[in-house]
Amino acid sequence: MINFKIAEPQTIDQVTSLLSEKKEKYYLMAGGTDLLGEIKDEIIEPEVVMDLKSIPNLSYIKKEREGVRIGVLTTVAELADNPLIKQDYPGLHEAALSVATPQLRNVGTIGGNLCQRPRCWYYRDAQVVCRKKGGSRCYATRGKNKYHAIFGGGVCHIVHPSDLAPALISLDSEISISTPKGDKTVSLADFYTLPRENVRKENILNPGEVVREIKIPLAKSGEKSTYYKIKERGGWDFAIASAAVKGTVSGGGFKDIKIVLGGVAPVPWRLEKAEKQVKGKKASEKLLKQAAREALKDARAMTENGYKKELVEAVIYRAAMSLG
Ligand SMILES: Cc1cc2nc3c(=O)[nH]c(=O)nc-3n(C[C@H](O)[C@H](O)[C@H](O)COP(=O)(O)OP(=O)(O)OC[C@H]3O[C@@H](n4cnc5c(N)ncnc54)[C@H](O)[C@@H]3O)c2cc1C
Ligand code: SF4
Repeated sequence: MINFKIAEPQTIDQVTSLLSEKKEKYYLMAGGTDLLGEIKDEIIEPEVVMDLKSIPNLSYIKKEREGVRIGVLTTVAELADNPLIKQDYPGLHEAALSVATPQLRNVGTIGGNLCQRPRCWYYRDAQVVCRKKGGSRCYATRGKNKYHAIFGGGVCHIVHPSDLAPALISLDSEISISTPKGDKTVSLADFYTLPRENVRKENILNPGEVVREIKIPLAKSGEKSTYYKIKERGGWDFAIASAAVKGTVSGGGFKDIKIVLGGVAPVPWRLEKAEKQVKGKKASEKLLKQAAREALKDARAMTENGYKKELVEAVIYRAAMSLG
């Protein structure tokens, strides 16, 4: 592991101005559960690591008139244990509880979880210089691609690893970003970018920008949410496929529904066509599986990840049926 300096900024403004000066290779650290792994594995070589935990008052969950505001340093465990989240956003509660292990949830933050880097084993191998690291090839295309994307791949087939991201997107969350020119807020769905836009990064953050807060609209009366995750192992694991579903079921039918998949695409994957197909109709296995099959027309499996198509059908069906 290389030597690096630790900076302990006291305000977000200090972070944005230091980052935009960019005299040295600066990296942001929240809980460090992902960042330190990348440094240890020599994927990145920072000169300075900026410890966001030295900034006060960035950990909170507050219900206000417009919605619930979550500070970027709130840990995944705090999110999972919060009574308001459990009651109003059960899908987010389930997603938070499904993340990693209790130890990692105690340290990992919501901001770090949303900005964590991909788990593709070629990316995580310091010896391999694939497209994401500035090389000219994606080694997953003809290599080991069992855990890779079936939607939205093309130049790079990573899957977005966060469990919180699909759940928060299904709830129409927004993300607030501090920049050297002031703060901006965008929908979390628009925060993530596909590899074809810029294969080197996974979101819209520019140098000098820091995530500050997540906002969830107030839950409407009768609205329910859920998160269904399939892992390869019984213990801790990333999703090989998951579905976050939010909606209202009335008279046995889906009055309203939003479906976002995890573990199958480089970004949390919204299924608008499937949503339209089931909206206003009676909830049934046949309807949901038909909608999933329609959505799967956009899937492009590689040599080893075709099994994910069946998992997509299963997660949509199980998550959506549990709303009723
Ligand atoms: C063994 C293991 C199993 C895991 N299993 C799961 C799982 O099942 N599901 C899941 O969702 N995740 C899983 N994770 C990922 C884990 O949840 C993340 O490592 C954690 O949430 C990251 O949070 P952190 O605060 O430690 O982030 P850090 O490691 O500090 O940061 C992660 C990345 O985000 C950037 N970053 C951090 N904060 C900000 C900010 N405010 N603004 C901009 N960029 C920022 C950092 O620069 C870094 O690139 C697992 C991780 C490990 C090591
Ligand atoms: S999927 Fe992306 S990160 Fe993995 S080898 Fe291909 S280009 Fe690299």
